[in-house]
Amino acid sequence: MGAPEAFTQTTDVGHFIAGRAAAGSSGRSQPVYNPATGQVARQVALASADEVGQAVAAAVAAQPAWGDFPAIRRARVLNNFLALMNQHKDTLAAMISAEHGKVFTDAQGEVARGIDIVEFACGAPQLLKGDFTEQVSTGIDNHTLRQPLGVVAGITPFNFPCMVPLWMFPIALAAGNAFILKPSERDPSCAMFMAELLQQAGLPAGVFSVVQGDKVAVDALLVHPDVKAISFVGSTAIAQYIYETGAHHGKRVQALGGAKNHLVVMPDANVEQAVDALVGAAYGSAGERCMAISVAVLVGGIADAVVEKVAERARALKVMNPMDLAAEMGPIVTAQARDRIEGYIGVGVEEGATLVVDGRGLKVPGLEAGFFTGGTLFDHATPAMRIYQEEIFGPVLVCVRVPDMASALKLINDHEYGNGVSLYTSDGGVAREFSRRVQVGMVGINVPIPVPMAWHGFGGWKRSLFGDMHAYGEEGVRFYTKQKSVMQRWPDSIAKGAEFGFPTSK
Ligand code: NAD
Repeated sequence: MGAPEAFTQTTDVGHFIAGRAAAGSSGRSQPVYNPATGQVARQVALASADEVGQAVAAAVAAQPAWGDFPAIRRARVLNNFLALMNQHKDTLAAMISAEHGKVFTDAQGEVARGIDIVEFACGAPQLLKGDFTEQVSTGIDNHTLRQPLGVVAGITPFNFPCMVPLWMFPIALAAGNAFILKPSERDPSCAMFMAELLQQAGLPAGVFSVVQGDKVAVDALLVHPDVKAISFVGSTAIAQYIYETGAHHGKRVQALGGAKNHLVVMPDANVEQAVDALVGAAYGSAGERCMAISVAVLVGGIADAVVEKVAERARALKVMNPMDLAAEMGPIVTAQARDRIEGYIGVGVEEGATLVVDGRGLKVPGLEAGFFTGGTLFDHATPAMRIYQEEIFGPVLVCVRVPDMASALKLINDHEYGNGVSLYTSDGGVAREFSRRVQVGMVGINVPIPVPMAWHGFGGWKRSLFGDMHAYGEEGVRFYTKQKSVMQRWPDSIAKGAEFGFPTSK
């Protein structure tokens, strides 16, 4: 593969409302950075409540006709969108690298996993099929169907600007809803590009809108009476706020939050495989993944060998321009995020953990103003430390040593987060017991980042998810539809006379 083409657009980013790109009219905007150079690339508009209202009004006007389309016609539009996404997948990946900073090959993976969900949503006729029971009583049949909610909204984080919106809108649209996306203000370009591709695919104007913005736009969506459901992915404090506020305003809400994912290495694990897993899952995407591994739980005598080998690899990480195909790690999304991560490293030292590899202060030649930090490794951390308890969301791996599986499980189950977890072992019985007992939503057995496939659904437990349903898969279909039950009979099977008893099968 030759060098990929970088995304270098400098025009300001606005909204996509009623089938058209629209410059912001609120008078508020903020810079979008290229984190590798540290330079401002462009400005993004921040919507006012009025602009959010315009997007909702366009959606309310467009949704009934879209919801009335036979599901297979909606699926055909999504099929066109699928082809366009595949055609432009490297453009999307370059946009992600330019605004988020993850390496190009990782961004390609993000786009591919998002496209999987479009493929899943193309099965709309099958996914929306109802149930039918003939003869629930003499001459009476009962069926259930799933109907769209109306206008729904998605609020998404910076770390997957393409894939996380794709967890939501393909399924919402397949089900006949209109969708309003409020992407992260840090990397707003993918959302606009996908809005244009949906338009090209034949989606009617107003069915999909993008409003850029911050808390003002989010709050306008949360209180708007015509928005029936909110899907949120981001940090736990905001997820809880979204869940509570959305529910208070009568909306259906799924709000996915933060994480602290553990990878347990058992004494019988293959050390090389466990080290590969830890290095890729802790430092890939600079640790800015909600499924990144941020805690290594080293059981028994295997700890010294694992720490030594991970340290060697962390020191040798290729941290460079994310568009360089040799890069293993790019910059952090913003200078503030880099400073927060490096601040946590200072906290870990003060708390008394052993700093084995210190990534602070890394400078990449030619990109000295970029928001880089290196891979960091702590050993001998304890559950009382903040570096163990809190989500750092950067390339910092914290090792905790425990004597046995029971202590590893207790550690994980006592943690406030329960998004992902991984176990490295060659013992099937131990793996089975671990999968059954662990209080975490997504489990990997010898798989470091167990992000479920499009048809399985994604979601954590405990304070990693507020709401009842996971994202995408069948749970996604249920979230974006409401069930209706219909009982029917025909005049010639109706017995004469009023019935005063509660109806039962006869
Ligand atoms: P964030 O919570 O800062 O922002 C997420 C969204 O909320 C953005 O669209 C942002 O504009 C909006 N927002 C921010 N502050 C707000 C406020 N005060 N009121 C209303 N809206 C607000 O998260 P982030 O930094 O963009 O993303 C990283 C976080 O997301 C991490 O905690 C990570 O674990 C989490 N995440 C979770 C999952 C998951 O599936 N559980 C997936 C990806 C990321």
